[in-house]
Amino acid sequence: MVKEKEKCAFCGRPKASTNMLIAGLEAKICDYCIIQAKAILDEEAPQKKKQTFATTKILKPFEIKAHLDEYVIGQDEAKKYLSVAVYNHYKRINQLTGKDQDDVEIEKSNIIIVGETGTGKTLLARTIAKMLNVPFCIADATVLTEAGYVGEDVESILSRLLQASDFNVEAAERGIIFIDEIDKIARKSDNPSITRDVSGEGVQQALLKLLEGAVVSVPPQGGRKHPEQKMIQVNTQNILFIAGGAFDGIERKIGNRMKANMIGYAAARETDTIDKKNLLQYIAPQDIRSYGMIPEIVGRFPVLTNLDPLDKDALRRILTEPKNALIKQYIKLFKMDNIALSFNDNVLDFIVEKAIEYKLGARGLRSILESIMTDAMFELPSQKDIKQIEITLEYASEKMEKTNIAKLKVA
Ligand code: ADP
Repeated sequence: MVKEKEKCAFCGRPKASTNMLIAGLEAKICDYCIIQAKAILDEEAPQKKKQTFATTKILKPFEIKAHLDEYVIGQDEAKKYLSVAVYNHYKRINQLTGKDQDDVEIEKSNIIIVGETGTGKTLLARTIAKMLNVPFCIADATVLTEAGYVGEDVESILSRLLQASDFNVEAAERGIIFIDEIDKIARKSDNPSITRDVSGEGVQQALLKLLEGAVVSVPPQGGRKHPEQKMIQVNTQNILFIAGGAFDGIERKIGNRMKANMIGYAAARETDTIDKKNLLQYIAPQDIRSYGMIPEIVGRFPVLTNLDPLDKDALRRILTEPKNALIKQYIKLFKMDNIALSFNDNVLDFIVEKAIEYKLGARGLRSILESIMTDAMFELPSQKDIKQIEITLEYASEKMEKTNIAKLKVA
């Protein structure tokens, strides 16, 4: 007879029939049972990880901005606008659902953020959604077309939000949708002779319905609607829309408007105080209209703010300061291999200079760092005796020289 102690306490296999029998304090478990237990864990775990979106903590604008400051460098003006808009949005939801109802209906505070690509539009929206613990999705406006044409219907945006909320409709209805590249659905031309503008004005019209607040039938898996498909009804009344766009060339429209406004009163002196390098800061709703957004859409985005271009100083801070700054991430990666990684200060300046030289913006910082660090990340984990590494300017520039600059250009 096998001794009680020499068998698996779960399946009863004797030690001889196992590959390994692992001892605990009171019992032993065999390798077969461990594998089976792992399979059960894997099956159950994803369900446990499901986000609940149960609580939406309402933070004061000051707290929202402080949170954004931890992740996003600069952009103070936009952060302020966003914080207030989000705060008012959730106040509005509470008013609609709570007992505080009277005749004064608070309107939605959808937001348009205008700023060069890679200056933090998506990052701001994503950081806010994460903080609020509400479903969040990014929708790309460039793929949208009017219903019935090649492309995606605007309702597909809501499918994304549903997926982000694990099909919890109630949570999705309080979510945030970031519409990227909203400028790409600007009216294509003022010339009425062109054929239907199905990816411009047509999409704007379709989008209006979502922005105004409506109950929309949404195909759960996205794509085109078709008759046999089961639809989910989503009410968009309390969904906050944040739109972002670079609006290339809008500075000219801003400049023209400002010049026109000034004619007549002390024009000469006023123009002296205008910061011509950053005209975006003077953006007004009429500029977006003259860019090709229809008045109804402009009206549905009552909050308009801009992001500043990132200068050298901002790029340098982005490398090291945010909570999950790139440099912190690399240090952590190396620490996992018990290697203490450090960067010389002039390496950080070098990375910023390269990002500016190649016009890569903040997104380029990552690809430049990757070029510098890849060899080290490849080799060092196998070299047991190396416990620390310092990245010097010499090392960094040598790696950069070998890099194909075209590969650094990120989309
Ligand atoms: P876009 O304005 O095109 O939406 P993103 O928000 O996607 O740009 O920014 C791209 C990346 O650049 C971000 O993931 C982030 O790492 C970095 N980044 C851009 N702007 C900032 C910023 N102001 N502060 C911190 N990181 C930034």
